[in-house]
Amino acid sequence: MIDLKKSEFWFVVGSQDLYGDEALKQVAANARVMAEELAKDPNLPGTLVLKPVAITPQVIRRLFAEANAAENCAGIITWMHTFSPSKMWIQGLSVNTKPILQLHTQFNRDIPWDSIDMDFMNLNQAAHGDREHGYIYARMRLPRKVVAGHWQESGVRRRIGVWMRAAAAARDGKTAVVLRLGDNMREVAVTEGDKVEAQIKFGWQVNTWGIGDLAAVYAEVSDGEAEKLLGEYEGKYEFSAEVKSPGPARQAALEQAKIEIALKAMLEREGAGAFTTTFQDLHGLPQLPGLASQRLMEQGYGFGAEGDWKQSMLVRAAKVMALGLAGGVSFMEDYTYHFEPGKEAVLGAHMLEVCPTIAGKKPRLEVHPLGIGGKAPPARLVFDAAAGQAVLATLVDLGDRMRMVVNDVETIEIEQAMPKLPVARALWKPYPNLRDAAESWILCGGAHHSVYTTALTAEYFRDWAEMMEIEFVHIGKDTNPVRLKDELRWADACWSGR
Ligand code: MN
Repeated sequence: MIDLKKSEFWFVVGSQDLYGDEALKQVAANARVMAEELAKDPNLPGTLVLKPVAITPQVIRRLFAEANAAENCAGIITWMHTFSPSKMWIQGLSVNTKPILQLHTQFNRDIPWDSIDMDFMNLNQAAHGDREHGYIYARMRLPRKVVAGHWQESGVRRRIGVWMRAAAAARDGKTAVVLRLGDNMREVAVTEGDKVEAQIKFGWQVNTWGIGDLAAVYAEVSDGEAEKLLGEYEGKYEFSAEVKSPGPARQAALEQAKIEIALKAMLEREGAGAFTTTFQDLHGLPQLPGLASQRLMEQGYGFGAEGDWKQSMLVRAAKVMALGLAGGVSFMEDYTYHFEPGKEAVLGAHMLEVCPTIAGKKPRLEVHPLGIGGKAPPARLVFDAAAGQAVLATLVDLGDRMRMVVNDVETIEIEQAMPKLPVARALWKPYPNLRDAAESWILCGGAHHSVYTTALTAEYFRDWAEMMEIEFVHIGKDTNPVRLKDELRWADACWSGR
């Protein structure tokens, strides 16, 4: 469903026609060597496309116009091999709609101490060419990521790869549909938001379908199809004794399989990459889509519970960014705390809908009653999340802008069995510590719903937020809630009237 190779990244090397043909030939040759080597690096997803050396305002203007028109172009990497006067770039940059990465590097790693002369200096002067180039972005207040260092260094490539993945997610959002089944949960504030603004900012088309539309497709799914899918589950998950043998639990699992098939058919029909459900609106369905939502997240779809379309689309964006990386991405909710001194932690879960990509061990398919919703006991996958570094990201609508909040956390092994809690869960210690992290998150107005991922770091979300031109707040090991409170006040001044 998601194919990162379809995202093209245009590599644009800047120079000018002052240096003569020989120098420009050398620039083009070096750019080709770099592009070929970078294209082979598995850390750089997408397809790298080398463009002719940019030497005149006309060439540059045409290049950005072409990029805008190219649907596959997800971003542009610029690097000034020589000096490239930035007034030449203004017309192009002023029409550009693609994310920009300013790569600040040079072809040679070392100074050739014995042979260096003025010709070499003029040919390899990114150290000042990229400063001129950086000035024009700053002067024009254009968003971009700057990555500095030698292009063969792994850390530099890693950061380019992060940006490429964020750009692929941004591109995915430009044509994305969030299929909402029912409205938001009644009376809840934080899951609300301006859907028109969301489409303007992110491209997401957030539209609603009646739950009856899904129920109608559900009714058409045959028992045979559901049995076949249950067979697939059997290969991937452990079954509880009740699900293994005929009876109501197995029947509940089959109903979830039917919901999965029906929902997937609807998502495909509407070209949607994400969806929401709400337990308050299930007319015509036997159960809340639990297992079905978990399974569809596992396949790369975004999901938000209680009509939370912002988090659903964010799960989708994170799924695109994380494709092929180790670790997983899930919808998540802060549920309850453990306040034992020295062992403070947050238990995250949801009623049912946690994605099995974050599981530490093989998930177990179980059926249990649900306290709310008034429907039949739903089938769900139960597991503990894998331990390790993770981040939580959420998106809130502050009325005049969208704010993204990201918290670094460390997920820990759950030592107790919790035999009476049949849901997938994660136990984490947030940075800098539970108290400061929770105070900071709450000062930001961060939601109880979030995206949880062990595949991504805050840098991915920072890059994505920069591309979306939305506010980004990072809560990490250096966060101090007192200072953060001031920073949030400054942010209000910074974002007002934009
Ligand atoms: Mn919830």
